[in-house]
Amino acid sequence: MSECTHDCSTCGESCGERTEPQSFLKEHNPAARVGRVYGVVSGKGGVGKSMVTSQLAVLARRAGHKVGVLDADVTGPSIPRAFGVHQRAMADERGMLPVETSTGIQLMSVNLLLDDETDPVIWRGPVIGGVVTQFWTDVIWDVDYLFVDMPPGTGDVALSVFQSIPLDGIVIVASPQELVGMVVEKAVKMAEMMAVPIVGVVENMSYLLCPDCGREIPLFGQGRTQAAADAHGLKLLARMPIDPALAQLTDQGRIEDLQAQWLAPVAEAIL
Ligand code: ADP
Repeated sequence: MSECTHDCSTCGESCGERTEPQSFLKEHNPAARVGRVYGVVSGKGGVGKSMVTSQLAVLARRAGHKVGVLDADVTGPSIPRAFGVHQRAMADERGMLPVETSTGIQLMSVNLLLDDETDPVIWRGPVIGGVVTQFWTDVIWDVDYLFVDMPPGTGDVALSVFQSIPLDGIVIVASPQELVGMVVEKAVKMAEMMAVPIVGVVENMSYLLCPDCGREIPLFGQGRTQAAADAHGLKLLARMPIDPALAQLTDQGRIEDLQAQWLAPVAEAIL
């Protein structure tokens, strides 16, 4: 620790004498233009966070905006696959260039940098955090809306993303079980501590649609998730069914062809 100058605004140390909170927020690339930034978070992996991020980007693009997706889920990067993007990202002397999807959505993901996109990412937390921060500081985004597919959970990687990228809001994705069990509570607390507004909650895998009669079959009882969200002051903005067609479209890299309007209320709240 260096000698104390008693000027906390120029000091990076976090000591007991600190008189003001230290901001770790980073500036984006000077050549970039970024409008509003929204993070999509979840209490754990595999609940459909990337799926929701891509759908929100598609809806924002269809509404006529310039849109980007920053894939901060470095150890499970599924964004390029959902959009059917497999080429490598390039760079010039100003910074990294995002790859564009067929409808013009700008993407940056570790999968666009690996020699072989099936290679596992076996980096430790600080390295992953550094890469995600670079996707913010180095990429030449030109977007009205940037959606960040956040690392799952509330570990050190998620925390460093929260601290370094200035988010205008977050959308929480949860399964009905998680919502009732409030597995998402830590994510809510983290957002509150970082003073990031919560746009609302998307309940994923809420129900099954009967292929014969089209009736909704709730998988976890109706009404309990709404009550759980209400109890924590969260807005339950959308419910998505388990839909094999949705999984198939993502597997085929055709998420931009999806016509379902489940997330329209979330897009409306953001746009
Ligand atoms: P996360 O980003 O939370 O790890 P993903 O969005 O990658 O989760 O989803 C995990 C898997 O579940 C993917 O293969 C995705 O296609 C599938 N999936 C997510 N939500 C649904 C849904 N509502 N219906 C069908 N499959 C889904």
